[in-house]
Amino acid sequence: MTKDYGGVINELVAGRWKHPQTGKAVAIDIRSIVIKETIEGLEGQLIYPLHRKEKLGVIADKYTYEALGRRVASALRSEGFAIEEIIWGKPISTIEGVEELRHLSRHCDGLIAVGAGTINDSVKYATFLDKKRYSVFPTSPQNAYTTPTASISFDGFKKSLTAHPPQGVFFDLSVVSRCPIRLTRSAFADVICRTTAQVDWLMSHLLFGTAYRRLPYILLAYDEDALFDNAAALKSGHMEAFGMLVRICAIMGLGTCFTSTTHSGSMGEHMMSHYIDMFAGDRHPGSLHGEQVGVTALTMSRLQNQILRRRSPPALAPTRIDEGAMYARYGQEVGQHCIQQLQRKALDREEADRVNHFLEENWERLAGQLGEVMLPTERLWQAMEEIGAPKTPRELGLPQDFYREVVIHSREIRDRYTMLDVAGDAEMLEAFASACG
Ligand SMILES: [Zn+2]
Repeated sequence: MTKDYGGVINELVAGRWKHPQTGKAVAIDIRSIVIKETIEGLEGQLIYPLHRKEKLGVIADKYTYEALGRRVASALRSEGFAIEEIIWGKPISTIEGVEELRHLSRHCDGLIAVGAGTINDSVKYATFLDKKRYSVFPTSPQNAYTTPTASISFDGFKKSLTAHPPQGVFFDLSVVSRCPIRLTRSAFADVICRTTAQVDWLMSHLLFGTAYRRLPYILLAYDEDALFDNAAALKSGHMEAFGMLVRICAIMGLGTCFTSTTHSGSMGEHMMSHYIDMFAGDRHPGSLHGEQVGVTALTMSRLQNQILRRRSPPALAPTRIDEGAMYARYGQEVGQHCIQQLQRKALDREEADRVNHFLEENWERLAGQLGEVMLPTERLWQAMEEIGAPKTPRELGLPQDFYREVVIHSREIRDRYTMLDVAGDAEMLEAFASACG
């Protein structure tokens, strides 16, 4: 018998997990999620109820085909499926890549993705456009398998597009745990942002009454502590540790389904990472999304701890929007977009006064509420150290002066109000950014 690592995910898929606040069962859009030590020999049975009578294209690249694709294709054939094996020569998650994939799979009714980032995103978007169903066999840990969104580039600009969720996601931990260590580190670094995203999102809710959901965090809390304690064990492919990482990644992804937004796992730290991707140009060191988020989450965590541990609240001024400087920095089109984003969350005099008054009256209570969901930066730092992930811009390969720009200006690219905005409006951000390195 192969050991099952599904835990709370099994309960969710079966519709048995009840929200502790409402007592109601929580529904998810994915019909099957399986996390086992191995699923060798089970592939056909897992796919059968989801893709019955479909002619299936098994999509892999040359590496993921060797790691798992060949095995999946032959198991599905044994189950009686008509199979087309499609080994994608030059996988790329651009809209042109998606069009190529649609053409390659034009004779198939449904697709089975075997792989990670590019394969998963491209299959998700291609099947969405073609109104076909898909399932995925991951080859490394990542959040994106359980999200309905696909990250696809158009003319060099990466967009997060609404697509559709898979029918099934099948994690074979014996395969996933053998992925390159860099991918494991990146996945780990991408999930440490739970605390920084939650502090930002909850703060926005408490200050401005914006929507907030606790559900993703209740689910993530099952494993987060133990995952941090076992970060080093991921380096040796430890099954229990991989089980925790994969469950957390899956829940991070499901957070997008629960809340219909990405807020639960994407606030200030993700803005900084997106800023790096958008504006580093030839200074971009080729770092992975998760690696960047690990570094920016540590920065964000330091800022949040610094501000929330103050005895008195910061005093906010009306948000300064220097349009001339923004056009100069971003050009006409992107500049206009950023000005709009910043305007949507900008404080005018009246609003700044209201927030300052609220902070004066409620500082201890607010800092306490946010402190409950905030981790000490050292806790994150230690776990990142143990798994060997980059922790500083220097370790990431980013020049210090560019990182300073990232910290100061990334709040301009999105309308989500985060601790970067508090620090910016309180005239504290420049000094903080100069100390980042
Ligand atoms: Zn992320």
